[in-house]
Amino acid sequence: MIKLLYMLGYVKDVKWRKHVIKRIKMKISKHSVVSFNFTLTHDDGTVLDSSDKGGPLVYLHGVGALIPGLEKELEGKGKGDKLQAKIAPSEAYGERNDQMIQTVPKNELPAEEEIKAGMQFQADTPNGPIVVTVVEVKDTEVTLDGNHPLAGVNLNFDVEVTDVRDATQEEIDHGHAHGPGGVEH
Ligand SMILES: [Zn+2]
Repeated sequence: MIKLLYMLGYVKDVKWRKHVIKRIKMKISKHSVVSFNFTLTHDDGTVLDSSDKGGPLVYLHGVGALIPGLEKELEGKGKGDKLQAKIAPSEAYGERNDQMIQTVPKNELPAEEEIKAGMQFQADTPNGPIVVTVVEVKDTEVTLDGNHPLAGVNLNFDVEVTDVRDATQEEIDHGHAHGPGGVEH
């Protein structure tokens, strides 16, 4: 591509001065700070999440801030570009793992109120905290599911890139984007 641009630019006169036709857009690459609007839907069309209320999502590209499948789709895109992508679990939150479903004694849970199916707790693991969801409650036992709620689910994204800029050195050092939509501190 560099070579092609060089050849395109290698002209013998200056006629090009009157024919500047378009700006070459900044492409999303490692350490771009990207803003985008999105709608995320389940295969059945149910909307799981969107930027409608909170405004564009802003992230630092190439450091694992987004699920791998979505970062791959965004790579090389520019401001104003739109994309639709169906991302498989292997490129998103992984497949469901039945070993992540475990039964524990009820009295081991921090219970400020009656434990019911659907409640969520934070559990510590060697790889950091995860969210576990109560799936069944019996007299003395509770069954918890440690799978990510979106594990095993195809993610259908409808995305519009609204801005692309280079990250500052400080953002690269921190590993996240700063400013509105990013981390403000
Ligand atoms: Zn920071």
